[in-house]
Amino acid sequence: MFRNSVISKTRQMWKLWVGIIALVVGSIAPLFEQTGIDWTLGTIIAIAGYGFTVAFVSCPACGQRWLFKALLDAGIYGPLLRESACPACEHGFD
Ligand SMILES: [Zn+2]
Repeated sequence: MFRNSVISKTRQMWKLWVGIIALVVGSIAPLFEQTGIDWTLGTIIAIAGYGFTVAFVSCPACGQRWLFKALLDAGIYGPLLRESACPACEHGFD
């Protein structure tokens, strides 16, 4: 999925998945008592996962935190997922 995206090209897709999985687990696990995860812990897991992704998915060339930038400007998501160059410094990762 998104093999040509700059996130894949820079081998950071796993960080995105960590964030997505934490967000899903933190949101759904508290619904099931047997997981032992209550809403407080679920919220912490979700926020930690999201924070991890926002803080650590960054451009190896210029260091811009892409997903933090995307928080401020949602128009960045498209280029991040479709193009293989950094939207900030335009360094290509092909
Ligand atoms: Zn860059």
